[in-house]
Amino acid sequence: MLVTEQNSIHFTQSDERINELLRSLQEVTDLEALQALADWDQQTGMPDGASGVRSNQAATLQGLIHERWTSPRLGELLNKLEEVVQRASFTDADRGLVRQAHRIYNRSTKLPRKLVEEMERARVISHDTWVHARANNDFASYASCLEQTVRFQREVADLYGYQENRYDALLDIYEPGLTTSTVEQFFAPIRDVSVSLLQQIQASGKKINTSFLQGSFSEVQQKLLAEKLLTRIGYDFSRGKIARSPHPFTTSIGAPQDVRLTVRYSDILPMSMMAALHEGGHALYEQGSAPTLLRTPVAGGTSMGMHESQSRLWENAIGRSEAFWRGQYGLVQEAFPQSFQQVSVTDFARALNHVEPSLIRVEADEVTYNLHIIIRFEIEKALVNGEITVASLPRLWNEKYHAYLGIEPDSDTNGVLQDVHWTFGFGYFASYTLGNLYGAQIYHSLRKSIAHFDQRLAAGETAFILEWLRERLYTFGAIYQPDELMQHITGEAANPQHLIQYLTKKFSQLYEL
Ligand code: ZN
Repeated sequence: MLVTEQNSIHFTQSDERINELLRSLQEVTDLEALQALADWDQQTGMPDGASGVRSNQAATLQGLIHERWTSPRLGELLNKLEEVVQRASFTDADRGLVRQAHRIYNRSTKLPRKLVEEMERARVISHDTWVHARANNDFASYASCLEQTVRFQREVADLYGYQENRYDALLDIYEPGLTTSTVEQFFAPIRDVSVSLLQQIQASGKKINTSFLQGSFSEVQQKLLAEKLLTRIGYDFSRGKIARSPHPFTTSIGAPQDVRLTVRYSDILPMSMMAALHEGGHALYEQGSAPTLLRTPVAGGTSMGMHESQSRLWENAIGRSEAFWRGQYGLVQEAFPQSFQQVSVTDFARALNHVEPSLIRVEADEVTYNLHIIIRFEIEKALVNGEITVASLPRLWNEKYHAYLGIEPDSDTNGVLQDVHWTFGFGYFASYTLGNLYGAQIYHSLRKSIAHFDQRLAAGETAFILEWLRERLYTFGAIYQPDELMQHITGEAANPQHLIQYLTKKFSQLYEL
């Protein structure tokens, strides 16, 4: 059973061993926060010419962090505490802290410092090279960086170790215990329902008008709108900040006190608006950690799958529902009166759910989204296992888009170069579909336990949702593992049927299938 009261989330500071552990973890957490700050700077405003010096600074910092995480004294302390904290006099926070720290310690001690520094130096250069390659549609200029990432990731996977598949070692970084075969089991029924819904929608011949979502929307107004929407869903700007970057992301420079996010702007309004809600979901999760967890590795989300469940829940289940827009559409009309005065809220919400195979993952509708993830999952698995080469990626990418979505990228910028993830490694993408799965299951419980859900949302309320999620999930940070939390929140283990039912119900209604 999980602790249920916020004030019961605390460490046993009367115990000297816990105190020593906390002191040591606070320092390494501070170093990691500064690394996140340097990374935020690199992605949002660092001068172009600075990437050489930044890559060395980042490597130095990463080396120090690695030294802290592999300290023999920390190992001794964790070994001792592993058993001690099982006693009833210790708290769940103590147990979670020791579990999480032990996991990071074990992983860190498997990697030599030299490799960690080299990878960090390469990561900064790789990111910079990718930004330019993407802007210039020049895959060849980025290929050698990607080849290096593949070599590093294979080495890391071998050092971490795995049972069945080398790729398992990388999946585990983002979702503890996740394996390739579990992902395949979860993905198969999700792929089937996505393909089947897409075929039915295309066969229905029904068209949804989306023309008003494209136009010349001023960036200043888009930013203001993003800020207002974020405020409405409960993002706290006194502990946050918004910037622009080529690829939207959220980062914590000390959760829950400093949680920042980025969006990007274009002439397609949902790009910034839905990115704000997506990143806002991540940020609400991070800002929701109990304040007592500050400066420890259990502040913030418990896994990337659980993290994506929150971004996808706020972005899609809530942020693409007509009920939500009944409460918030005024903000859009106020920001862009000329474009939206004549558009009804129903038509606006329908347009946000329009299904059409598209090239860009972050703009994909909910039906085709998981197919984008499955393509990346298949490619990563093959790359990590040495079954395909980097040089063959543009061709393979285009073939898979043709096979799964019936379309082919017009450029590598809109194809294989679109995502930032491969500048740092492999194993992340599965988190998105896992997040959709967790998110649909949590959303199901949320709706079931709150009366007049849609009416309250339509009246402009959202705090009741944030409060529900905070109490059951956000406040705990990473004290509990994803499977414990799923059981606690929804009363069952992770189950893809909720996502399947959610998609089927929503899109059968929308397209009258
Ligand atoms: Zn996300």
